[in-house]
Amino acid sequence: MNRMNNLAVNADRLWSDLMETAQIGGTQKGGIRRLTLSDEDRQVRDWFRAQCETLGCTVEVDEVGNMFATRPGRRGDLPPIAMGSHLDTQPTGGKFDGVLGVLAGLECLRTLHDAAYQTNAPLMLVNWTNEEGSRFAPAMLGSGVHAGVFDPAFADTREDSEHNTFGSALDSIGYRGPLKAGSLSIGAMFELHIEQGPILEAEGDTIGIVKGVQGMRWYDVEITGRESHAGSTPMHLRRDALTSSAEFICAIDRIAREMKDAVATVGTIATHPNSRNVIPGRTVLSIDLRHPDKGSLDSIEAQLDAALADIARAHGVTATMVRIWDSPPVPFAETCLQSIRQAARQCGYRSREMISGAGHDAAYIARVAPTAMIFVPCAGGLSHNEEEDASFEDCKAGAQVLLQAVLDYDRRFGDPGIETTEAGTGRLNDKQAASSS
Ligand SMILES: [Zn+2]
Repeated sequence: MNRMNNLAVNADRLWSDLMETAQIGGTQKGGIRRLTLSDEDRQVRDWFRAQCETLGCTVEVDEVGNMFATRPGRRGDLPPIAMGSHLDTQPTGGKFDGVLGVLAGLECLRTLHDAAYQTNAPLMLVNWTNEEGSRFAPAMLGSGVHAGVFDPAFADTREDSEHNTFGSALDSIGYRGPLKAGSLSIGAMFELHIEQGPILEAEGDTIGIVKGVQGMRWYDVEITGRESHAGSTPMHLRRDALTSSAEFICAIDRIAREMKDAVATVGTIATHPNSRNVIPGRTVLSIDLRHPDKGSLDSIEAQLDAALADIARAHGVTATMVRIWDSPPVPFAETCLQSIRQAARQCGYRSREMISGAGHDAAYIARVAPTAMIFVPCAGGLSHNEEEDASFEDCKAGAQVLLQAVLDYDRRFGDPGIETTEAGTGRLNDKQAASSS
Protein backbone atom coordinates (compact mmCIF):
# COMPACT_ATOMS: atom_id res chain seq x y z
CA MET A 1 0.00 0.00 0.00
CA ASN A 2 2.84 2.39 0.81
CA ARG A 3 4.44 1.49 -2.45
CA MET A 4 1.29 2.41 -4.27
CA ASN A 5 1.13 5.78 -2.53
CA ASN A 6 4.67 6.46 -3.66
CA LEU A 7 3.87 6.14 -7.32
CA ALA A 8 3.90 9.68 -8.63
CA VAL A 9 3.07 10.82 -12.12
CA ASN A 10 5.70 12.81 -13.97
CA ALA A 11 3.96 16.15 -14.42
CA ASP A 12 6.70 17.59 -16.62
CA ARG A 13 6.30 14.70 -19.03
CA LEU A 14 2.50 15.14 -19.04
CA TRP A 15 2.83 18.88 -19.67
CA SER A 16 5.28 18.33 -22.48
CA ASP A 17 2.85 15.84 -24.12
CA LEU A 18 0.07 18.42 -23.81
CA MET A 19 2.21 21.10 -25.44
CA GLU A 20 3.61 18.76 -28.11
CA THR A 21 0.24 17.45 -29.28
CA ALA A 22 -1.21 20.99 -29.13
CA GLN A 23 0.97 21.68 -32.18
CA ILE A 24 -1.13 19.22 -34.19
CA GLY A 25 -3.79 21.61 -35.42
CA GLY A 26 -2.34 24.40 -33.25
CA THR A 27 -3.87 27.86 -33.86
CA GLN A 28 -2.29 31.32 -33.74
CA LYS A 29 -4.14 32.14 -30.54
CA GLY A 30 -2.73 29.10 -28.75
CA GLY A 31 -5.74 26.83 -29.17
CA ILE A 32 -6.30 23.74 -31.29
CA ARG A 33 -8.38 23.14 -34.40
CA ARG A 34 -8.45 19.36 -34.68
CA LEU A 35 -11.78 18.39 -36.14
CA THR A 36 -12.87 14.77 -35.95
CA LEU A 37 -11.46 12.54 -38.72
CA SER A 38 -9.46 15.39 -40.27
CA ASP A 39 -5.82 14.98 -41.22
CA GLU A 40 -4.87 16.59 -37.88
CA ASP A 41 -6.97 13.97 -36.11
CA ARG A 42 -5.09 11.27 -38.05
CA GLN A 43 -1.76 12.75 -36.97
CA VAL A 44 -2.65 12.83 -33.28
CA ARG A 45 -4.07 9.29 -33.53
CA ASP A 46 -0.80 8.07 -35.09
CA TRP A 47 1.11 9.77 -32.27
CA PHE A 48 -1.18 8.24 -29.64
CA ARG A 49 -0.85 4.76 -31.09
CA ALA A 50 2.96 5.00 -31.23
CA GLN A 51 3.20 6.18 -27.60
CA CYS A 52 0.98 3.35 -26.36
CA GLU A 53 2.85 0.72 -28.36
CA THR A 54 6.15 1.93 -26.94
CA LEU A 55 4.74 1.02 -23.54
CA GLY A 56 3.96 -2.51 -24.71
CA CYS A 57 0.23 -1.87 -25.05
CA THR A 58 -1.87 -3.52 -27.73
CA VAL A 59 -3.82 -0.90 -29.69
CA GLU A 60 -7.11 -1.94 -31.25
CA VAL A 61 -9.44 0.22 -33.34
CA ASP A 62 -13.15 -0.42 -33.75
CA GLU A 63 -15.37 0.19 -36.76
CA VAL A 64 -16.10 3.81 -35.77
CA GLY A 65 -12.47 4.65 -35.04
CA ASN A 66 -12.52 4.39 -31.23
CA MET A 67 -8.96 3.50 -30.14
CA PHE A 68 -8.33 1.11 -27.25
CA ALA A 69 -4.80 0.62 -25.88
CA THR A 70 -4.60 -2.31 -23.47
CA ARG A 71 -1.90 -2.98 -20.88
CA PRO A 72 -2.11 -6.55 -19.58
CA GLY A 73 -2.93 -7.24 -15.93
CA ARG A 74 -1.98 -10.17 -13.74
CA ARG A 75 -5.39 -11.72 -14.20
CA GLY A 76 -6.62 -12.51 -17.66
CA ASP A 77 -10.16 -13.20 -16.42
CA LEU A 78 -10.93 -9.56 -15.58
CA PRO A 79 -12.25 -6.91 -17.98
CA PRO A 80 -9.97 -3.87 -18.15
CA ILE A 81 -10.23 -0.75 -16.03
CA ALA A 82 -10.40 2.05 -18.58
CA MET A 83 -9.23 5.64 -18.60
CA GLY A 84 -9.79 8.01 -21.46
CA SER A 85 -11.56 10.88 -23.15
CA HIS A 86 -11.18 12.43 -26.62
CA LEU A 87 -8.46 13.97 -28.79
CA ASP A 88 -10.76 15.81 -31.21
CA THR A 89 -11.48 19.50 -30.59
CA GLN A 90 -13.90 22.27 -31.48
CA PRO A 91 -12.98 24.41 -34.54
CA THR A 92 -11.57 26.99 -32.14
CA GLY A 93 -10.93 24.63 -29.25
CA GLY A 94 -8.50 24.73 -26.36
CA LYS A 95 -5.55 22.57 -25.37
CA PHE A 96 -7.20 20.71 -22.50
CA ASP A 97 -10.81 19.75 -23.29
CA GLY A 98 -10.66 15.97 -23.79
CA VAL A 99 -6.94 15.94 -24.45
CA LEU A 100 -6.10 16.10 -20.75
CA GLY A 101 -8.10 12.95 -20.03
CA VAL A 102 -6.30 10.95 -22.71
CA LEU A 103 -2.79 12.26 -22.06
CA ALA A 104 -3.12 11.97 -18.28
CA GLY A 105 -4.17 8.35 -18.85
CA LEU A 106 -1.05 7.91 -20.97
CA GLU A 107 1.05 9.41 -18.18
CA CYS A 108 -0.52 6.93 -15.71
CA LEU A 109 0.47 4.05 -18.00
CA ARG A 110 4.00 5.42 -18.30
CA THR A 111 4.33 5.78 -14.54
CA LEU A 112 3.22 2.17 -14.02
CA HIS A 113 5.51 1.03 -16.83
CA ASP A 114 8.54 2.79 -15.31
CA ALA A 115 7.78 1.25 -11.92
CA ALA A 116 7.12 -2.16 -13.50
CA TYR A 117 3.87 -2.10 -11.54
CA GLN A 118 1.48 -4.87 -12.41
CA THR A 119 -2.22 -4.31 -11.85
CA ASN A 120 -4.64 -7.18 -11.29
CA ALA A 121 -7.04 -6.13 -14.03
CA PRO A 122 -5.74 -5.05 -17.42
CA LEU A 123 -5.74 -1.29 -17.92
CA MET A 124 -7.15 0.33 -21.01
CA LEU A 125 -6.67 3.81 -22.41
CA VAL A 126 -9.38 4.97 -24.82
CA ASN A 127 -9.56 7.76 -27.39
CA TRP A 128 -13.27 8.10 -28.21
CA THR A 129 -14.12 9.27 -31.73
CA ASN A 130 -16.05 12.49 -32.34
CA GLU A 131 -16.87 13.61 -28.83
CA GLU A 132 -17.27 17.22 -29.89
CA GLY A 133 -19.87 16.71 -32.58
CA SER A 134 -18.95 19.97 -34.27
CA ARG A 135 -18.00 18.40 -37.63
CA PHE A 136 -20.44 15.48 -37.45
CA ALA A 137 -23.51 15.78 -35.19
CA PRO A 138 -24.39 14.39 -32.72
CA ALA A 139 -21.71 14.78 -30.07
CA MET A 140 -20.27 11.78 -28.18
CA LEU A 141 -20.85 9.63 -31.22
CA GLY A 142 -18.03 7.09 -30.74
CA SER A 143 -18.80 6.41 -27.09
CA GLY A 144 -22.51 6.36 -27.95
CA VAL A 145 -21.95 3.65 -30.55
CA HIS A 146 -19.82 1.69 -28.09
CA ALA A 147 -22.62 1.86 -25.53
CA GLY A 148 -25.28 0.81 -28.06
CA VAL A 149 -27.04 4.19 -28.08
CA PHE A 150 -26.36 4.60 -31.83
CA ASP A 151 -25.85 2.07 -34.64
CA PRO A 152 -22.50 2.05 -36.44
CA ALA A 153 -24.54 2.53 -39.65
CA PHE A 154 -26.10 5.68 -38.19
CA ALA A 155 -22.60 7.00 -37.43
CA ASP A 156 -21.38 6.17 -40.94
CA THR A 157 -24.06 8.28 -42.61
CA ARG A 158 -23.62 11.47 -40.56
CA GLU A 159 -22.60 14.34 -42.84
CA ASP A 160 -20.43 17.39 -42.30
CA SER A 161 -21.29 20.78 -43.80
CA GLU A 162 -19.57 19.80 -47.05
CA HIS A 163 -21.59 16.57 -47.34
CA ASN A 164 -18.65 14.29 -46.53
CA THR A 165 -19.93 11.35 -44.55
CA PHE A 166 -18.46 10.18 -41.28
CA GLY A 167 -17.80 6.80 -42.91
CA SER A 168 -15.87 8.22 -45.87
CA ALA A 169 -13.84 10.50 -43.59
CA LEU A 170 -13.03 7.54 -41.34
CA ASP A 171 -11.85 5.51 -44.33
CA SER A 172 -9.82 8.37 -45.75
CA ILE A 173 -7.71 8.75 -42.59
CA GLY A 174 -7.35 4.96 -42.31
CA TYR A 175 -9.02 4.61 -38.92
CA ARG A 176 -11.87 2.23 -39.59
CA GLY A 177 -10.72 -0.71 -37.49
CA PRO A 178 -11.71 -4.35 -37.74
CA LEU A 179 -13.12 -4.49 -34.22
CA LYS A 180 -16.92 -4.65 -33.94
CA ALA A 181 -18.19 -1.63 -31.99
CA GLY A 182 -19.05 -2.44 -28.40
CA SER A 183 -17.37 -5.84 -28.51
CA LEU A 184 -14.60 -4.95 -26.07
CA SER A 185 -15.97 -5.10 -22.57
CA ILE A 186 -14.92 -2.49 -20.07
CA GLY A 187 -14.83 -3.28 -16.34
CA ALA A 188 -14.97 0.35 -15.23
CA MET A 189 -14.07 3.75 -16.65
CA PHE A 190 -12.51 6.88 -15.14
CA GLU A 191 -12.55 10.07 -17.21
CA LEU A 192 -10.48 13.07 -16.16
CA HIS A 193 -11.67 16.36 -17.71
CA ILE A 194 -11.42 20.06 -17.16
CA GLU A 195 -14.54 21.34 -15.42
CA GLN A 196 -15.58 23.74 -18.23
CA GLY A 197 -17.33 25.75 -15.55
CA PRO A 198 -16.34 28.17 -12.79
CA ILE A 199 -17.14 26.32 -9.56
CA LEU A 200 -13.81 24.67 -8.61
CA GLU A 201 -11.82 27.83 -9.27
CA ALA A 202 -14.29 30.02 -7.39
CA GLU A 203 -14.33 27.70 -4.37
CA GLY A 204 -10.58 27.12 -4.33
CA ASP A 205 -10.93 23.37 -4.84
CA THR A 206 -8.53 21.30 -6.95
CA ILE A 207 -10.50 18.12 -7.58
CA GLY A 208 -14.13 17.71 -8.56
CA ILE A 209 -15.59 14.31 -7.71
CA VAL A 210 -18.24 14.13 -10.39
CA LYS A 211 -21.31 12.23 -9.20
CA GLY A 212 -23.16 12.37 -12.48
CA VAL A 213 -24.26 14.33 -15.49
CA GLN A 214 -27.38 16.43 -15.16
CA GLY A 215 -30.47 15.71 -17.19
CA MET A 216 -31.37 17.99 -20.04
CA ARG A 217 -34.62 18.73 -21.82
CA TRP A 218 -35.20 20.92 -24.84
CA TYR A 219 -38.55 22.48 -25.69
CA ASP A 220 -39.99 24.41 -28.61
CA VAL A 221 -42.59 26.97 -27.61
CA GLU A 222 -44.95 28.65 -30.05
CA ILE A 223 -47.24 31.49 -29.04
CA THR A 224 -49.90 32.73 -31.46
CA GLY A 225 -51.78 36.01 -31.02
CA ARG A 226 -53.03 38.38 -33.70
CA GLU A 227 -51.07 40.67 -35.96
CA SER A 228 -52.55 44.15 -36.06
CA HIS A 229 -51.68 47.79 -36.58
CA ALA A 230 -49.32 49.31 -34.02
CA GLY A 231 -50.96 52.72 -34.26
CA SER A 232 -54.66 51.98 -34.32
CA THR A 233 -55.01 48.97 -31.98
CA PRO A 234 -55.68 50.11 -28.38
CA MET A 235 -53.65 48.38 -25.69
CA HIS A 236 -56.63 46.56 -24.15
CA LEU A 237 -57.61 44.99 -27.49
CA ARG A 238 -54.24 43.52 -28.37
CA ARG A 239 -53.27 39.85 -28.53
CA ASP A 240 -49.52 40.38 -28.56
CA ALA A 241 -47.46 37.18 -28.91
CA LEU A 242 -44.22 38.95 -28.01
CA THR A 243 -45.30 40.53 -24.72
CA SER A 244 -46.77 37.11 -23.80
CA SER A 245 -43.39 35.58 -24.61
CA ALA A 246 -41.60 38.17 -22.52
CA GLU A 247 -43.76 37.30 -19.52
CA PHE A 248 -43.16 33.62 -20.09
CA ILE A 249 -39.38 34.09 -20.34
CA CYS A 250 -39.41 35.90 -16.98
CA ALA A 251 -41.53 33.09 -15.53
CA ILE A 252 -39.05 30.48 -16.77
CA ASP A 253 -36.20 32.37 -15.14
CA ARG A 254 -38.10 32.70 -11.85
CA ILE A 255 -39.14 29.04 -11.74
CA ALA A 256 -35.54 27.90 -12.37
CA ARG A 257 -34.20 30.22 -9.66
CA GLU A 258 -36.70 28.84 -7.17
CA MET A 259 -35.58 25.22 -7.75
CA LYS A 260 -32.19 24.38 -6.27
CA ASP A 261 -29.62 23.25 -8.88
CA ALA A 262 -31.89 24.02 -11.84
CA VAL A 263 -30.73 26.02 -14.87
CA ALA A 264 -33.05 27.17 -17.63
CA THR A 265 -32.23 29.24 -20.68
CA VAL A 266 -34.22 30.81 -23.49
CA GLY A 267 -31.50 31.10 -26.12
CA THR A 268 -33.51 31.84 -29.24
CA ILE A 269 -36.67 33.73 -30.09
CA ALA A 270 -38.18 34.51 -33.46
CA THR A 271 -41.00 36.97 -33.82
CA HIS A 272 -43.39 37.33 -36.76
CA PRO A 273 -43.79 39.31 -38.87
CA ASN A 274 -40.86 41.13 -37.22
CA SER A 275 -41.97 44.52 -38.39
CA ARG A 276 -41.59 47.77 -36.46
CA ASN A 277 -45.21 48.86 -36.73
CA VAL A 278 -47.01 45.51 -36.50
CA ILE A 279 -48.06 43.91 -33.22
CA PRO A 280 -46.33 40.52 -33.28
CA GLY A 281 -48.79 37.75 -34.12
CA ARG A 282 -46.56 34.76 -33.54
CA THR A 283 -43.35 33.91 -31.68
CA VAL A 284 -41.25 30.78 -31.51
CA LEU A 285 -38.74 30.33 -28.68
CA SER A 286 -36.52 27.59 -27.33
CA ILE A 287 -35.99 26.38 -23.75
CA ASP A 288 -32.93 24.50 -22.52
CA LEU A 289 -33.69 23.07 -19.05
CA ARG A 290 -31.22 21.10 -16.92
CA HIS A 291 -31.26 19.52 -13.48
CA PRO A 292 -29.49 16.52 -11.91
CA ASP A 293 -32.76 14.91 -10.83
CA LYS A 294 -35.56 13.55 -13.02
CA GLY A 295 -38.31 14.31 -10.50
CA SER A 296 -37.24 17.94 -10.35
CA LEU A 297 -37.23 18.14 -14.14
CA ASP A 298 -40.79 16.78 -14.15
CA SER A 299 -41.83 19.29 -11.53
CA ILE A 300 -40.29 22.25 -13.37
CA GLU A 301 -41.88 21.09 -16.62
CA ALA A 302 -45.31 21.05 -14.94
CA GLN A 303 -44.74 24.56 -13.55
CA LEU A 304 -43.71 25.82 -16.99
CA ASP A 305 -46.84 24.31 -18.54
CA ALA A 306 -49.04 25.97 -15.91
CA ALA A 307 -47.30 29.35 -16.23
CA LEU A 308 -47.66 29.30 -20.01
CA ALA A 309 -51.37 28.43 -19.77
CA ASP A 310 -51.96 31.32 -17.33
CA ILE A 311 -50.14 33.80 -19.55
CA ALA A 312 -51.99 32.61 -22.66
CA ARG A 313 -55.35 33.06 -20.89
CA ALA A 314 -54.45 36.53 -19.64
CA HIS A 315 -53.34 37.75 -23.08
CA GLY A 316 -55.89 35.97 -25.28
CA VAL A 317 -53.21 34.06 -27.16
CA THR A 318 -52.76 30.35 -27.79
CA ALA A 319 -49.55 28.59 -26.81
CA THR A 320 -47.91 25.19 -27.18
CA MET A 321 -44.82 23.84 -25.50
CA VAL A 322 -43.34 20.66 -27.03
CA ARG A 323 -40.50 18.66 -25.51
CA ILE A 324 -38.21 17.85 -28.45
CA TRP A 325 -35.30 16.23 -26.60
CA ASP A 326 -34.93 14.45 -23.29
CA SER A 327 -31.52 13.37 -22.05
CA PRO A 328 -32.05 11.77 -18.63
CA PRO A 329 -29.72 12.46 -15.69
CA VAL A 330 -26.80 10.02 -15.48
CA PRO A 331 -25.74 8.97 -12.00
CA PHE A 332 -22.14 7.73 -11.83
CA ALA A 333 -21.14 4.51 -10.05
CA GLU A 334 -20.63 4.68 -6.29
CA THR A 335 -17.79 2.11 -6.53
CA CYS A 336 -15.82 4.41 -8.85
CA LEU A 337 -16.69 7.49 -6.79
CA GLN A 338 -15.34 5.83 -3.65
CA SER A 339 -12.02 5.24 -5.41
CA ILE A 340 -11.84 8.87 -6.54
CA ARG A 341 -12.71 10.15 -3.02
CA GLN A 342 -10.05 7.90 -1.55
CA ALA A 343 -7.49 9.07 -4.12
CA ALA A 344 -8.21 12.76 -3.56
CA ARG A 345 -7.92 12.25 0.21
CA GLN A 346 -4.61 10.37 -0.07
CA CYS A 347 -3.19 13.09 -2.29
CA GLY A 348 -4.33 15.79 0.16
CA TYR A 349 -6.15 17.85 -2.46
CA ARG A 350 -9.15 20.01 -1.64
CA SER A 351 -12.09 18.40 -3.38
CA ARG A 352 -15.83 18.80 -3.74
CA GLU A 353 -18.61 16.60 -5.03
CA MET A 354 -20.34 18.02 -8.06
CA ILE A 355 -22.52 17.36 -11.08
CA SER A 356 -21.35 17.85 -14.65
CA GLY A 357 -23.24 20.55 -16.50
CA ALA A 358 -21.92 19.35 -19.87
CA GLY A 359 -22.21 16.00 -21.63
CA HIS A 360 -19.18 13.70 -21.78
CA ASP A 361 -18.21 10.29 -23.18
CA ALA A 362 -18.48 8.98 -19.61
CA ALA A 363 -22.23 9.65 -19.68
CA TYR A 364 -22.73 7.00 -22.38
CA ILE A 365 -20.15 4.57 -21.02
CA ALA A 366 -21.99 4.69 -17.68
CA ARG A 367 -24.74 2.69 -19.42
CA VAL A 368 -22.42 -0.29 -19.95
CA ALA A 369 -19.83 -0.08 -17.15
CA PRO A 370 -19.34 1.46 -13.70
CA THR A 371 -18.06 4.94 -14.53
CA ALA A 372 -17.17 8.24 -12.88
CA MET A 373 -15.36 11.47 -13.69
CA ILE A 374 -12.70 13.65 -12.12
CA PHE A 375 -12.74 17.39 -12.80
CA VAL A 376 -9.91 19.90 -12.45
CA PRO A 377 -10.35 23.68 -12.64
CA CYS A 378 -9.96 25.68 -15.84
CA ALA A 379 -9.25 29.40 -15.80
CA GLY A 380 -12.42 31.46 -15.55
CA GLY A 381 -14.46 28.34 -16.33
CA LEU A 382 -13.72 29.06 -19.99
CA SER A 383 -13.87 26.19 -22.51
CA HIS A 384 -14.64 25.63 -26.21
CA ASN A 385 -12.34 28.61 -26.67
CA GLU A 386 -8.75 28.94 -27.85
CA GLU A 387 -7.93 30.70 -24.59
CA GLU A 388 -9.06 27.73 -22.51
CA ASP A 389 -6.43 27.24 -19.82
CA ALA A 390 -5.61 24.82 -17.02
CA SER A 391 -2.57 25.14 -14.75
CA PHE A 392 0.41 22.80 -14.63
CA GLU A 393 -0.35 22.07 -10.96
CA ASP A 394 -4.01 21.24 -11.62
CA CYS A 395 -3.18 18.94 -14.54
CA LYS A 396 -0.66 17.21 -12.31
CA ALA A 397 -3.23 16.85 -9.53
CA GLY A 398 -5.82 15.44 -11.91
CA ALA A 399 -3.41 12.87 -13.34
CA GLN A 400 -2.26 11.81 -9.87
CA VAL A 401 -5.83 11.37 -8.63
CA LEU A 402 -6.67 9.45 -11.81
CA LEU A 403 -3.76 7.08 -11.22
CA GLN A 404 -4.58 6.50 -7.56
CA ALA A 405 -8.28 6.06 -8.24
CA VAL A 406 -7.54 3.38 -10.85
CA LEU A 407 -5.11 1.61 -8.52
CA ASP A 408 -7.58 1.85 -5.64
CA TYR A 409 -10.30 0.33 -7.83
CA ASP A 410 -7.91 -2.41 -8.92
CA ARG A 411 -7.22 -3.34 -5.29
CA ARG A 412 -10.62 -5.02 -5.05
CA PHE A 413 -9.21 -7.78 -7.24
CA GLY A 414 -6.22 -8.66 -5.07
CA ASP A 415 -3.11 -7.36 -3.37
CA PRO A 416 -1.78 -4.30 -5.11
CA GLY A 417 1.69 -3.23 -6.00
CA ILE A 418 3.33 -6.56 -6.52
CA GLU A 419 6.26 -6.16 -8.81
CA THR A 420 5.88 -9.02 -11.21
CA THR A 421 7.42 -7.78 -14.42
CA GLU A 422 10.95 -7.22 -15.53
CA ALA A 423 11.67 -3.56 -14.92
CA GLY A 424 10.84 -1.37 -17.85
CA THR A 425 9.27 -3.96 -20.11
CA GLY A 426 5.73 -3.76 -18.83
CA ARG A 427 5.22 -7.29 -20.10
CA LEU A 428 4.50 -10.49 -18.28
CA ASN A 429 7.26 -13.04 -18.04
CA ASP A 430 6.47 -16.55 -19.27
CA LYS A 431 5.39 -17.89 -15.93
CA GLN A 432 3.00 -15.01 -15.24
CA ALA A 433 1.67 -15.09 -18.76
CA ALA A 434 0.81 -18.75 -18.27
CA SER A 435 -0.89 -18.13 -14.94
CA SER A 436 -2.93 -15.19 -16.19
CA SER A 437 -4.31 -16.71 -19.34
ZN1 LIG B 1 -14.54 17.22 -23.76
